[in-house]
Amino acid sequence: MNSREIIRKKRDGGTLTREEMEFFLKGYLDGAVADYQMSAFLMAVCFRGMGDEETTVFTDVMLRSGKIVDLSGISGTKVDKHSTGGVGDKVSLILAPTVAACGVPVPMVSGRGLGHTGGTLDKLESIPGFRTDLTLDEYRSVIAETGLVLAGQTSEIAPADKRMYALRDVTATVESVPLIAGSIMSKKLAEGIDALVLDVKTGRGAFMRTEEEAIALARTLIAVGKKFGKRSLGFVTDMNQPLGYAVGNWLEVVECIDCLQGRDVPDLMEVTLVLGGAMVFLGKKAKSIEEGMAMCRERIADGSAWKKFRENIRRQGGDASFVENPGKYPKSKCQLQIKSSSTGDIDSIDALEIGFVSIMLGAGRLAVDDRVDPKAGILFHKKVGDSVSPGDALATLYGDDQTRLEGASRRAQKAFNIATEPSVLPPLIHSMVDERGVHPWRSPV
Ligand code: URA
Repeated sequence: MNSREIIRKKRDGGTLTREEMEFFLKGYLDGAVADYQMSAFLMAVCFRGMGDEETTVFTDVMLRSGKIVDLSGISGTKVDKHSTGGVGDKVSLILAPTVAACGVPVPMVSGRGLGHTGGTLDKLESIPGFRTDLTLDEYRSVIAETGLVLAGQTSEIAPADKRMYALRDVTATVESVPLIAGSIMSKKLAEGIDALVLDVKTGRGAFMRTEEEAIALARTLIAVGKKFGKRSLGFVTDMNQPLGYAVGNWLEVVECIDCLQGRDVPDLMEVTLVLGGAMVFLGKKAKSIEEGMAMCRERIADGSAWKKFRENIRRQGGDASFVENPGKYPKSKCQLQIKSSSTGDIDSIDALEIGFVSIMLGAGRLAVDDRVDPKAGILFHKKVGDSVSPGDALATLYGDDQTRLEGASRRAQKAFNIATEPSVLPPLIHSMVDERGVHPWRSPV
């Protein structure tokens, strides 16, 4: 067996055996398989895919590249949520403390920005002092004490994914059902969960552009979860326009602080409450998703979700004074407003373009070891469906480099499409997927 034969086999559409996957992934972690060979392998998987059984074995091999955390000593049904990635997708930061405040332990291992999408880890690390690089002992004690842990992958949790994730980001090999399934499920299965809620994004700013692709991914994720004995629920949610009003790490944290303090950002809070409700339901603290949603609303209204968020920030080394007083955070050196030049309704805001704009501003990465600027990003003043007149502010861009800001603002301007006809808002939650299949979802009013 050698790496070249394994790459060739996948390139030609063959089904890899467990032994071949173990040989290749172990070789990658040992240094025997080079980054360029792994890149070729990833591209071959993108083109050729994997069968269902092959995807499960691939996930298992990735999972076993590291340790599997045992949280059985912590009482309660441990539930996490994972998103396939979006633009302005800051749901985890509101949802995790809210669900934990409902009494459901939430162990959460998140990733960094991938491609044009943002990453929960980058958002959390924009909070001064906040540590996501916890050892397994720290990880266990934080969740045991607070019912919530927000961590990054260590070299102990799914290390194969940690390295492949960074490589996929810069080799255009993200958009693949087996690669996404292996990546997400290996992390989730390693972190000690009992159940999982999946937010599978669809639309311009998602890796799965069409609803059919998103449903196929949701079905695969849920089937893999089932094989490992974890109950999972998936929601296909819209990612045509960015979620909420902020894109960029610290800007998004501030929007989450506002929501935890009761501000209603309609699209962001609808997704958060549905996913949170499903977590509370899977965590056996509510008899239905709707009841779980109501509990989440109450925990925000009574201040306990906000309290849990600050408690967790302090416990993981963060300086809570910045979230209590966001005004003291350093500011970007430059800002630029983009304005409407016509009258009409905003028909679309291209989330993919906005993702690229945020990378231009420094909020995301183009190369594996690029540093992100936590302050950089975009604040929207208008969203799809809003009416505008010439001169109305559409968005403000923040960054430290005026020239980059100007280039980014030209691109951001083009991401807005203003129509003279009233626009039709796409549904936010397209469907729910479980082990039995795909179901329509209607949010309770
Ligand atoms: N999120 C992940 O953790 N991995 C992917 O491949 C895509 C989204």
